Amino acid sequence: MKLFPLPAFSDNYIWILHDGQRALVVDPGESDGVLAWLKQHGLKLDTILITHHHADHTGGVAALREATGAHVIGPAFEPMPEPLQRVSAGEHVNVLGLRFEVIEVPGHTAGHIAFYAAEAEGTPLLFCGDTLFSGGCGRLFEGTPAQMLDSLTRLAALPADTRVCCTHEYTLSNLKFAQAIEPDNGALAAYVAKCQQQRAQNFPTLPSSIGVENSINPFLRTAEAAVVRSAQAHEPATTTDAVSVFATLRTWKNNFK
Ligand SMILES: [Zn+2]
Ligand SMILES: [Zn+2]
Repeated sequence: MKLFPLPAFSDNYIWILHDGQRALVVDPGESDGVLAWLKQHGLKLDTILITHHHADHTGGVAALREATGAHVIGPAFEPMPEPLQRVSAGEHVNVLGLRFEVIEVPGHTAGHIAFYAAEAEGTPLLFCGDTLFSGGCGRLFEGTPAQMLDSLTRLAALPADTRVCCTHEYTLSNLKFAQAIEPDNGALAAYVAKCQQQRAQNFPTLPSSIGVENSINPFLRTAEAAVVRSAQAHEPATTTDAVSVFATLRTWKNNFK
């Protein structure tokens, strides 16, 4: 099986997983680039997975379904381009011989889901949409800090080697913020250097891994003393409670330049 992040728009990735014949695509915000790539590689589109309703994740679904007859699977509780198979927490879907568990991750949108395959040729695989980014997390358009923290905590508990397939190349900008929060985090400094090198060659920084994110992503590190201290220095009303720390970080990041 091969995994490929197809760039779309200014900073989206449309993840493609294929076995040399059949392909799965995740969150296709557009169709032309996907169809061209599939044709170039001689692949038949089998299934489309959708994590949430935003147009940059769903805009290509109807045209891809029309052109290929692909089966579409998406969240139970979001407005979606019909027809599709709607799935919710705890359900499983079998795609290209892989068994994906549906994890509910509300926060960025109210019905956002993620797809997790524990057995994917030895290394677990996570399609998490706009919930977890490398070094950051999605904005809270439809959910509360408590919901998002709960969602992220569920993803952070997955095996450390899980490949994390985020849908935007936001890594360097997230890491700038992460370093403002934790200037003395050595793992973070090393990761910044690695990602800068990758971007300088125009390579994706993704997929990341749960192990890396747990060591560098401030939104998964709200219990760390250094993270709490930074949050409190920025917003004195912040308590040591994880939700309070998370809420301060999320608001701070919204305005961070
Ligand atoms: Zn989104
Ligand atoms: Zn997006």
